[in-house]
Amino acid sequence: MHGFRIFDRRSLLLLLSLLLSAGFFATTLFGYFVSKQAIRDAIVGQDLPLTASNIYSEIQKDLVRPVLISSTMAHDTFLRDWVVKRESRVAEMAHYLREIKERHGAFSSFFVSDKSAIYYTGEGVLKRVSATDPLDAWYFRVRDMKPDYEINVDPDLANANALTIFINYRVFDFSGNYIGATGIGLTVDAVRRLITDYQRRFQRTIYFVDAQGQVVLFGNQSGRARDLRSAPGLGALVERILREKAGTYQYSANGDNHILNVNYLPELKWYLFVEQNEATALAGIRRTLYINLAISLVVTLVVLLLTHFVLSRYQHRIEEMASTDNLTGLLNRHAFDILIGKLLADYRRAPKPFAILLADIDHFKQINDRHGHLVGDQVLKGLAGVLLGGLRQSDIAVRWGGEEFLLLLNGCDHTEAQRVAENLRQRIETTPIEVDGLDIVVTISVGVSQYDGVELPDQMVNRADTALYAAKKGGRNRVEVAAQPDLAQVAVPPAPTPGSGI
Ligand code: GH3
Ligand code: MG
Ligand code: MG
Repeated sequence: MHGFRIFDRRSLLLLLSLLLSAGFFATTLFGYFVSKQAIRDAIVGQDLPLTASNIYSEIQKDLVRPVLISSTMAHDTFLRDWVVKRESRVAEMAHYLREIKERHGAFSSFFVSDKSAIYYTGEGVLKRVSATDPLDAWYFRVRDMKPDYEINVDPDLANANALTIFINYRVFDFSGNYIGATGIGLTVDAVRRLITDYQRRFQRTIYFVDAQGQVVLFGNQSGRARDLRSAPGLGALVERILREKAGTYQYSANGDNHILNVNYLPELKWYLFVEQNEATALAGIRRTLYINLAISLVVTLVVLLLTHFVLSRYQHRIEEMASTDNLTGLLNRHAFDILIGKLLADYRRAPKPFAILLADIDHFKQINDRHGHLVGDQVLKGLAGVLLGGLRQSDIAVRWGGEEFLLLLNGCDHTEAQRVAENLRQRIETTPIEVDGLDIVVTISVGVSQYDGVELPDQMVNRADTALYAAKKGGRNRVEVAAQPDLAQVAVPPAPTPGSGI
């Protein structure tokens, strides 16, 4: 039987893969961008401000209290009186400083007298500060500065492991004259640990910046520039941030986008910087994106493969069902319409003669009447088998109507077709069809027409029908050839076609 395609599997698969991948990619990408925006919003709106306020309250506990203690010291009547009384009893001052240090768990407490340049601690006289010693530069800075106090993170302390912060408070006598500097020093390990912990847990970078744009306190950030103005990307923003004191900023450095939250801590005169590398925050959903895309790809491929196999299995059956006649298994008229269309297209490219036979069983009504409709059906089926047995691979057999059959003989002119028809007629006449143990002999009348090269399929069939009518008229069990309107256009092959095998 001639296979032909009702639908094109390849374009169906292509369409399916396009639809699937478009759907998958659209939803996956949409999901990615929605999550990305949500994460960015969360960083800007919640995560960074929340981290900042947590850090802020911790740092307040650790740093604001010492500022208050130092302030109390600077305004302490004993201390001021003691200086006014010419610093005569060192033990009293040492006792006082020791008391302060122990009560508040400070790392050190001190007083530097402006008049004597003596540096007192809880142990007594430590040394004399000198304007030429770089280690004492801090004192002369404090002496000349405008604000009441400063917070100084000293990296050059003997206590190398613990970061130490000094609160340096200016002290005045009762008439308002500057008489020295006092305050406490404390380790800020707790703060530093907290910063490091936040950085590790949330991949955030946390540091403190002073009013000059210098980074004064940070976790373990290797390679951090001390001067923010020279930091890549961020440098250009520094002036604006210092002026605005608080806000959310974005900058790019080394190809990464950073989101930065800034808060000013007035007690410390420091800015708290909390920043997040967006790429790090998005790494999770980016990984999800790749996984989703891979899954989509695999699912698409699996669906395509399954579809391919299922289609291959059923396409043949579906097409057979749509194109064949149930009773006889021959092609139906619908299939014939498609095939004749293809044949005519071929013909226009390379004309090659072809002919049709239209066969009708003689007195079939009598068979039905005598043996019943069901036997009639079996006769039709048997006859179809006889017809098929006599056809070549390139021929086509169609159940045209109730007991009418159309045979399309490819490559045959009317002479050859007439010979084939005559063979068929004789073969059927001499081949009884066995139904329920009965041998039923039928005869057929046949009309033959050859395609004239220009007519429509219907016209060719009509001519065959007319010839068939003539055969019936002429006494049945005969073959008649239709008159050929204009056979000049038809190319007749030089050699006769191979025997039809009938
Ligand atoms: P003739 O063609 O020689 O003129 O006589 P006929 O008896 O064959 O007449 P006609 O072609 O007009 O009648 C066809 C009959 O075939 C009528 C119908 O009952 C019968 N027939 C058509 N289709 C079927 C079918 O599928 N099964 C059976 N059993 N009979 C059918
Ligand atoms: Mg009929
Ligand atoms: Mg008939």
